Amino acid sequence: MTPDDLAFDQRHIWHPYTSMTAPLPVYPVVAARGCELELAGGELLVDGMSSWWAAIHGYNHPRLNAAMKYQIDAMSHVMFGGITHPPAVALCRKLVAMTPAPLECVFLADSGSVAVEVAMKMALQYWHARGEPRQRFMTLRHGYHGDTFGAMSACDPDNSMHSLWKGYLPENLFAPAPTCGVDDDWNELDIVPFARLFAAHRHELAAVILEPIVQGAGGMRFYHPEWLKRIRAMCDREGVLLIADEIATGFGRTGKLFACEHAGIAPDILCLGKALTGGTMTLSATLTTRSVADTISNGEAGCFMHGPTFMGNPLACAVANESLAILESGEWRTQVAAIESQLRAELAPCRESPQVRDVRVLGAIGVVETHQPVNMAALQRFFVSQGVWIRPFGRLIYLMPPYVISPDQLARLTAAVVNAVNDPALFQS
Ligand code: PMP
Repeated sequence: MTPDDLAFDQRHIWHPYTSMTAPLPVYPVVAARGCELELAGGELLVDGMSSWWAAIHGYNHPRLNAAMKYQIDAMSHVMFGGITHPPAVALCRKLVAMTPAPLECVFLADSGSVAVEVAMKMALQYWHARGEPRQRFMTLRHGYHGDTFGAMSACDPDNSMHSLWKGYLPENLFAPAPTCGVDDDWNELDIVPFARLFAAHRHELAAVILEPIVQGAGGMRFYHPEWLKRIRAMCDREGVLLIADEIATGFGRTGKLFACEHAGIAPDILCLGKALTGGTMTLSATLTTRSVADTISNGEAGCFMHGPTFMGNPLACAVANESLAILESGEWRTQVAAIESQLRAELAPCRESPQVRDVRVLGAIGVVETHQPVNMAALQRFFVSQGVWIRPFGRLIYLMPPYVISPDQLARLTAAVVNAVNDPALFQS
């Protein structure tokens, strides 16, 4: 890439959550292999992000590449209306088998946000079909579910600037976020505000939507499994649907195949994405129970009102199948457990830094929360100079490496984080 390419990028291309007038610097990546990203200048960076929870098997994986190449020669895409194909059937078979038992009807969509839209639409259509329309969702503060409008209406109102969309965005109900951490003793009082809000609105709720155990982009917070058990019980008692957004947590990241397993519960609707294709292509899935699917299908519309152009894209389904086949070997369990204990040991020294408010680890996720917001551009530059790719935001420096990372590579990531929190200059904005 030439300097001219970078200048063009700065002038004409939006990047996620950036300004067009004062864009943050971007780093040109020309290749990615295993757990390393190669910059245009030839430098190799150890990847601590898995491209936002997605590349769990590392980059350029020979089995994933082979699956895509095979499928390209058969067909890369064909419409899903009136047509089906082997990659979609094989993938949905696997998804039905590996997710909690009551989930057996699969809707394939294009991205995480769309999977959430689909889930919310399923809940709305379900209540409409029952002849008692309900249009309210309840959720937790500090949640994140995507950037489309339905999904945004369930994101933390402050983090996602609901004030900008006032009057346009549906007004959902937000309970205080859990404060009882995943490793804490259960505190009965923690759930009380949620239970009160739920009780007050139980007859108007279409569904509760939440990220099980790990609240990701809204704060990287890990909460107690008892929360989920209680919410499941409340929803059961009142017949309110429970939507679990496992787009970030699914496929082993938290140490369980799905985070709901920490609490031994099954949702009525489950959203999957990100790691579904091993981080190669965009694809998501929304699964629901036979009873929800039947109710929707027997309603006024007679069908579920959604059908995107690239639904069930064969290329994405084929590579997702192969990614799930790699997971089926079960090796991820030992990999994630090893990453967890190394993160616990090697991030612990961060606690001694005056910059640091909290250090927490769950599965292959390590989080260092600082008191002050980080200076993103300076910190990013620092990490690149240390040979690692770590993308902090707000007051959070976090690691979620590919499961195949070696202990040496992981040690480079943790050392860079420890070095960063000991450099006060990186925390002035
Ligand atoms: N839900 C959760 C929990 C997520 O973490 C994300 C993405 N960060 C989404 C939904 C949205 O997914 P996508 O970016 O693929 O639309």
